[in-house]
Amino acid sequence: GAKRDGKSHIGLYDPVEGDLSSVRLNFQHAVERALAANEFVLHFQPIVDMQDGRIVGAEALVRWLDPERGMVPPAEFIPLAEATGRIGAIGQWVFHHACRNAARWLRQGHDLHVAVNLSAVQFASANLAVRLREEMLSANLAPSRVVIEVTETAVMQDVERSLGVLNALHALGIGMAIDDFGTGYSSLAYLRRLPAQTIKIDQSFVRDVDTDSEDLAIVRAIVALARALGRKTVAEGIENAQQWKLLQAIGVDYGQGYWLGRPVPEDELRALLGSNQGRVTAVAQQTTTQR
Ligand code: C2E
Ligand code: MG
Ligand code: MG
Ligand code: MG
Repeated sequence: GAKRDGKSHIGLYDPVEGDLSSVRLNFQHAVERALAANEFVLHFQPIVDMQDGRIVGAEALVRWLDPERGMVPPAEFIPLAEATGRIGAIGQWVFHHACRNAARWLRQGHDLHVAVNLSAVQFASANLAVRLREEMLSANLAPSRVVIEVTETAVMQDVERSLGVLNALHALGIGMAIDDFGTGYSSLAYLRRLPAQTIKIDQSFVRDVDTDSEDLAIVRAIVALARALGRKTVAEGIENAQQWKLLQAIGVDYGQGYWLGRPVPEDELRALLGSNQGRVTAVAQQTTTQR
């Protein structure tokens, strides 16, 4: 069976057990079964305003609830899904459910957007904009309530084609964020051409921002660059109050991280939205103590 230490690179399917083509085939069938049996689940992580801790959005993060292996994280199946051509089906499932959940939050009076990760394979498909538009229409969700997250590296795989698809999504009114900024391959020239309103500062720069002066310098530079280009910033991976305070002082617009809120099932997200006037608990408590 699959390794249980959680460290095997494929996780679900041990390549040692068979040749590569049977691994691929098994995986493809497993994905079809999982889609049919509704084994994928979305968790949502709050994206909060750095000034007041208000939840302004939620990132949809997919998990595979495997009956035998339990909760399988995306790092263990997204790359394989990309390599075996199954990412389209999973991505469609994710977008469908993300839109429906977001439409429900809005109907219940909460004011936020949903962020959805797209892989390079997905936006290499020319009719992506058409399909996403149909999903938003059938969910009765305004495109302005959706932000897609793409990495620089994904865009760079086929720049002209990616820009074509991303511009088509932009024309629909969908928002766009550059994920894991600073870790990929790209050039500032492309940053200028991407229709992205938001830059997500990768968690590797945030982790030691309060102790490492070079990380601090990088974060400051990204914030200055984003400002100069008229883009917003999100800091990923905020795990404690010190990081939060420092990033707030630097002028980062939005934050995400375990200290603010872990990815949670949809009902828990709604409970969060309903408490503290929509502010995350950690920040709500801080402001109360200060008073
Ligand atoms: P990402 O889009 O950069 O998402 C952020 C990841 O960081 C998530 O991991 C999240 O749980 C984790 N994270 C959030 N706050 C903290 C923190 O304070 N500390 C630490 N150490 N980690 C934090 P997750 O859910 O395991 O997802 C990993 C990656 O898988 C995502 O990175 C994204 O690239 C990909 N992914 C997830 N869902 C989807 C999806 O629906 N479609 C596609 N194509 N990719 C997805
Ligand atoms: Mg993301
Ligand atoms: Mg990221
Ligand atoms: Mg990432």
